[in-house]
Amino acid sequence: MAQQEDVFKKIVSHCKEYGFVFPSSDIYDGLAAVYDYGQNGVELKNNIKQYWWQSMVLLHENIVGIDAAIFMHPTTWKASGHVDAFNDPLIDNRDSKKRYRADVLIEEQMAKYEDKIQKEIEKAQKRFGDSFDEAKFRATNERVLENQKKYDDLHHRFQEVMNAPGGIDLDGMKQIILDEGIVCPISGTRNWTDVRQFNLMFKTEMGSTADGASTIYLRPETAQGIFVNYLNVQKTGRMKIPFGIAQIGKAFRNEIVARQFIFRMREFEQMEMQFFIQPGTELDWFAKWKETRMKWHQNLGFGAENYRFHDHDKLAHYANAATDIEFRMPFGFKEVEGIHSRTNFDLSQHAKYSGKKIEYFDPETNESYTPYVIETSIGVDRMFLSIMCHSYEEQVLPDGQTRTVLHLPAALAPVKLAVFPLTKKDGMPEKAQEIINDLRFHFNCKYEEKDQIGKRYRRMDAIGCPYCVTVDQQTLQDNTVTLRDRDTMEQHRVAISDLRSIIEDKVSITSLLKKLL
Ligand code: ATP
Repeated sequence: MAQQEDVFKKIVSHCKEYGFVFPSSDIYDGLAAVYDYGQNGVELKNNIKQYWWQSMVLLHENIVGIDAAIFMHPTTWKASGHVDAFNDPLIDNRDSKKRYRADVLIEEQMAKYEDKIQKEIEKAQKRFGDSFDEAKFRATNERVLENQKKYDDLHHRFQEVMNAPGGIDLDGMKQIILDEGIVCPISGTRNWTDVRQFNLMFKTEMGSTADGASTIYLRPETAQGIFVNYLNVQKTGRMKIPFGIAQIGKAFRNEIVARQFIFRMREFEQMEMQFFIQPGTELDWFAKWKETRMKWHQNLGFGAENYRFHDHDKLAHYANAATDIEFRMPFGFKEVEGIHSRTNFDLSQHAKYSGKKIEYFDPETNESYTPYVIETSIGVDRMFLSIMCHSYEEQVLPDGQTRTVLHLPAALAPVKLAVFPLTKKDGMPEKAQEIINDLRFHFNCKYEEKDQIGKRYRRMDAIGCPYCVTVDQQTLQDNTVTLRDRDTMEQHRVAISDLRSIIEDKVSITSLLKKLL
């Protein structure tokens, strides 16, 4: 684990050193849980967004996009339930003065029991080899049974307090923390305050105070911008159910604990799609979207074993089924995307609070109803982090040297092709520029002439550039160049005129999209 934390620290500093992610307002020592994307980060982020947007809007005839404002009428948040219920339970440790999410402390405790079980299984697997029967081992091994019981008991109690009839049972939550002997990781003590609810929405004021300013909120999710535009889009686009509305945009949450770099930010970006359906069909569509979204993730080639679904114990106030897609980060399996069956909660609430009729008239059955909704909601920044974590490698080469390489999927890489003149003489720089001038309309290219070729390769490895081309003496005679592959480091001689056809398909988002169909 300590080793994994080390790797994570290295990834964070790599992101800064190579222009991916900087702390916000860095010259003022940063702002907690707010980050800026640098010259390479913004390209990677844009590519992630493009991959998502196109998979939704280009590949589905019945999904369209919108771009709603961040500021919304304050009644939106009353109707959606966020003013009253968008809270996290917080708890402070009196000795370290550190603040924690009480539910997260309990979930981490459950994960510890799961880890212990997993370790026993792995040990036994090694010992017994092929003859290992996991189901039997789980049913009979004493240590596994003991930890499984602890896990089940805790899980049961946790569910009870989270789903208590009058809302989360805060005293019950504190009692679990005390009974489990959970200590503050900083002070190591159990000197906890009571658990309190904390609303995560940022408030500000619109209008000057003289003419009666009103309190408005920075949106904590982009979804409400879609719900309040349901009628506009359905009518003007003449959309027939089932149909979806997709949106990418900023969201803001005053997170209690902001740790783990861009995993939990106070300003972040979401890619959300609300899919409007006929009531009664929601569980089928929920299953379908789970599958579609998992495929989108696995299409990046990071290995199916690094993903899992995690069904929610506590459903949000609007949902009747919910799951997370989790990815194996260096700090464990963590949520990257949520898929929620939101019933007709939001549209009904907006109808109630606005006094407008928000329904769908089905021309085939001559019936009107309030559509149900399946939502897919993914954080751009968490996706970015998962890609960085998976791609980062410190590779020991046969000659004993180490290179740091980002094995980014080529279609997402910020720079697709770097072109180097071997030396700054004999017209090589001009030839290299000529190649770039020709290819820059098709994908992102970079020219580099500083330092020895080896160093230039390393710099490109570090930003995940999949291809490098070197112009040398032979190029000037026969118009061929060496083309180097980032992952294999192999070099081939190819004709300049073939470069586009060799590279373009591999680095385009289209190539990823085609694999989804
Ligand atoms: P968590 O349980 O981690 O707080 P959540 O369940 O509240 O997340 P959702 O409301 O389902 O998250 O939001 C959908 C997606 O938005 C998440 O899967 C995540 O990728 C992203 N997201 C949510 N909160 C943050 C945040 N503070 N920083 C970065 N991304 C976030």
